[in-house]
Formats: sequence, structure tokens, C-alpha cells
Amino acid sequence: MPGTELFGNEERKEINDVLETGMLFRYNNEQQRNGIWKARDFEAEVRKITGAKYAHAVSNGSAAIAIALAAAGIGAGDEVICPPFTFIASVEAVLWVGAIPVFAEIDETLCLSAEGIEKAITPKTKGVCLVHMCGGMADMDSIMKVVNDYNLILVEDAGQAFSASYKGTSVGLFGATGSYSFDFFKIATAGEGGIFVTNDEEIYKLADAYSDHGHNHVGNNRGMEQHPVLGFNYRISELHAAVALAQTRKVPQIREANRRNKKMLQDILSQTEGISFAHVADPDGDSATFLNMMLPDIETAKRTVDEMNKAGVGGFNYWYTNMYHFINQWDHLKNMQTVSKLPAEAFGIPQDYKNLHLPKTQEVIGRLVSFVIRCTWTEDEMKALAEKIATCAKAAMLVTA
Ligand SMILES: *Cc1c(COP(=O)(O)O)cnc(C)c1O
Repeated sequence: MPGTELFGNEERKEINDVLETGMLFRYNNEQQRNGIWKARDFEAEVRKITGAKYAHAVSNGSAAIAIALAAAGIGAGDEVICPPFTFIASVEAVLWVGAIPVFAEIDETLCLSAEGIEKAITPKTKGVCLVHMCGGMADMDSIMKVVNDYNLILVEDAGQAFSASYKGTSVGLFGATGSYSFDFFKIATAGEGGIFVTNDEEIYKLADAYSDHGHNHVGNNRGMEQHPVLGFNYRISELHAAVALAQTRKVPQIREANRRNKKMLQDILSQTEGISFAHVADPDGDSATFLNMMLPDIETAKRTVDEMNKAGVGGFNYWYTNMYHFINQWDHLKNMQTVSKLPAEAFGIPQDYKNLHLPKTQEVIGRLVSFVIRCTWTEDEMKALAEKIATCAKAAMLVTA
């Protein structure tokens, strides 16, 4: 979690600005706030880094993806193609806006593939919730072709890919709408926070209103503002925005360190036969928050994980058994264990989530072990880590199943 590695005076200064005025609310109260607008400044910083025309900060990344879906026009009864490998928030967001997740295959990019999306399309498909996983990005040329050929709405959950890009365009800006998360585990953190992006002014206005009970945010009298749509409360506080602002300013520096460190680990590990890496669709655009190591097969990956646990190697994720990132463990979804009835249940779910046939996804995630890249590592630390990982992988590969 590189953002938190660099928490320091810059964050404290931004928070103190807010504490000085006591204006914790992001809107109105112009006199009392004394020119301090942290949410606005955070949004400007995100526009600068991503090139987005519009950015709107909200309470968290899960809210941002729900807003992105709704503002793009996805709602009750719409089928939305989703990846079976994602943080569960993307799937929850689709359900929460009343839509119906339909799962499709990913590939070695760790994201939905164009082929997977195409195979999952039905006459009821309204859109795609594309998730850019593990700091990298989907193969956008082939995905945009399917999206355009079938006239689908593309919404991008770039929750864990802030600052990543594909051929010069930031992920999150290929579709109608996109979102980033600034939770504690991301490249920059607000503590809790998220941000919605789009290049479309009308969509931005909808998202802005939707995230604050419909307020159109025109004028200085909050109680008398117009309310073009019904909404909800997904606001970010000025305190969270202050932290996010300081952190976002550090992202170019963090990304550079991440890339250098990822390359060093990868260079050492690639000398071991049998170790390969997930495909980065545009290496120049990698945010490099994870080193995504692929073992030859699932059994070898499991043994490598066992060896690493025995050797005390930490800081990695074996998503295949993770409760929140991989569909194999989503029993609550498979059994629709909901707190109260969701629209998807009322409309009927076209896929049997308990018996999905996604062999490519199973193979890719089964072979994948992801290491969190730390931006503060020293060369010696990285060399020692890479050697330990290689030793564990070699031991795992020596065993014949
Ligand atoms: C972290 C994350 C989210 C959720 O963000 P929160 O800020 O924790 O709500 C959504 N999607 C993906 C892919 C994420 O990694």
C-alpha cells in the first residue's frame, strides 16, 4: 500500500488547513472556509493526473463505481457483464443500482477479455463493468471494438489502477464513466474516499447531483438549490479530501518508484525457469502496484504459496483462495444472501452463479501470486525478497504432482 508508506507532513498540513477553519463540509459557507476547498483541490489534482475533463470526489470507491454505473444510465433489470476476478465492490455496485451481473472470462491481463465479453452478450446486455486489476489494465483496443460493435455502455472500475494508462489514455476514461478508490490499500489514500470521472458534462452533472441528494450545487443557499434528480448521500468530507489531496500529489513519485522496484524484482525472478508474469497491455502505463507472478499450473502455485508461508515470505496475495476478490469464495453471492430483496432477485438472474463455466479464469487466477510493491524498498531488501521467492518457487516446481 504505497500511499500510506509516505504519510507525512504534507498530509498533516492539508488536514490542519481544514481544522483551522472547522469547515468539514465540502459545500457552501464561503466566509467561514477562508478559501479552503480541499475536495475541489483534490478533484483538480485528479484531473491533472488523469486528463479527465470532470472528476467528482465521493465517500469511497464503492460509491464511485455505483455512481459511475447509474450516471451512465445503467439501472433496474439491465444485464451488466462483470469479471469473476475483482474486488467484490464492483459486483455489489451493479446489484445496488438494480442491475444484474453476468460473469465473463478474464485473460492473462487479469481483466475481462474482449472474447470473454463477446461470448457473454445477450439481447438484454446493457453494459460492461470493466475492472482494471492489480495496478495494470485491460487490453483496451480489442475491448473498445466489442463495446462499439455491440453498442454497449462501458463503465470502468479503475479502483486499483489510479494513474495507470493505456496508450496514453488514463484507464477510467475509455468508457462513459469511471471510478478510482482512495481507500487505505490503494496507491493514494484518503483513509476512505473515491472519485468518479467522465469526459461528458451532462453525465458529470448527473453524478454530482446524484451523490448529494439531487442538489445541483448552484448558488449559496443550500436549502433553496434545485434538485434535478433524486439522489443519495455519497459525499466526501473535507478532512478525507485533505488527505487525498496530499497523497494524490505524491502519486507520480510513487508510481516511478513502483515501476523501478517492480522491474528489479521481475528481472531477478525471470531468471528462474517456470516463473512468468501477468500480461501488462501497455507496460508504459503500468501503475506497478503489484508484481503479478504466474506459476506453470495451479498445483505449483499452491505449493509455492505453502513454501512461502513456511519461509515467512509476506506481502503477497493468492487471490485464488481470497474471500473478497475471487468468485470461487463468493458463497454469499451464489446463494443470494441479501439483507433485503434486491431488484436482480425480482427480475431473475440469467446465470447460475453456482455453476459457472469459466475455465480460463480458473486457470489464470489459480496460477497467479501477486506481491504488493512497496515504494520504499531498498535494493538489498528487494534482492533478498526475490531470492526467497525464487527458492520457494523452485522447491515447488521440483515436486512432481
Ligand atoms: C478498492 C476497490 C474498490 C472499492 O473501493 P473502496 O474505496 O474500498 O470502497 C472497488 N473496486 C476495486 C477494483 C477495488 O480494488
